[in-house]
Amino acid sequence: MSFASLGLSPALVRAAEALSYTQPTPVQTEAIPAALQGRDLLATAHTGSGKTAAFCLPIVQRLIEAPRYAPRRTQALILVPTRELATQVGETMRGFAERLATPLKVSIVFGGVSINPQMMKMRGGTDVVVATPGRLLDLLDHNALKLGDIATLVLDEADRLLSEGFADELAAILARLPAQRQNQLFSATLPDAVQNLANELLNDPVRIDL
Ligand code: AMP
Repeated sequence: MSFASLGLSPALVRAAEALSYTQPTPVQTEAIPAALQGRDLLATAHTGSGKTAAFCLPIVQRLIEAPRYAPRRTQALILVPTRELATQVGETMRGFAERLATPLKVSIVFGGVSINPQMMKMRGGTDVVVATPGRLLDLLDHNALKLGDIATLVLDEADRLLSEGFADELAAILARLPAQRQNQLFSATLPDAVQNLANELLNDPVRIDL
């Protein structure tokens, strides 16, 4: 199995190879073709499985291939529970997005630090936002970004998003997203709270259980 055979474009296969990703992991093999088709996903996958690239690669490809790709309109949102994960996921996304002929802009935002530098960096718009929920709401309150063009939402480590008390923030964010969008939920475990969220959020999801 190769990245090309999963439907990824030559530019992204080259980007993956430049990062020493030559062979897709099992979660990538299952998730990438489904995500490229625009399907919703419910994946139980742990850190170390390669889940980050499993959602980053299709997001980048769908953005650059969209017939109506409009630069810097914030079309993809990835919500994560911690600052560390925001940085890790955002850097992985940048690894792919910045290797393209027309690089995409990826913004990484999290709480616990001053909001002003994050607002400055988002001026002029951004393509992909990787965020913790509380800081994303703060940025929305400051009109630092808009979510009206979000085409893909990823909840990464959804079990931790809920167990760390982000349920209310999550609901407030979901209410501000366009109804028509692709949703991907990744979680190490599927307790009832996550399953309920999945039932509410996902439309006929492809289920990946590794
Ligand atoms: P993740 O599970 O997304 O946190 O990824 C775990 C680690 O595996 C990261 O350091 C990635 O850079 C690496 N990785 C993910 N997919 C691949 C792949 N297909 N080939 C080589 N390394 C990978």
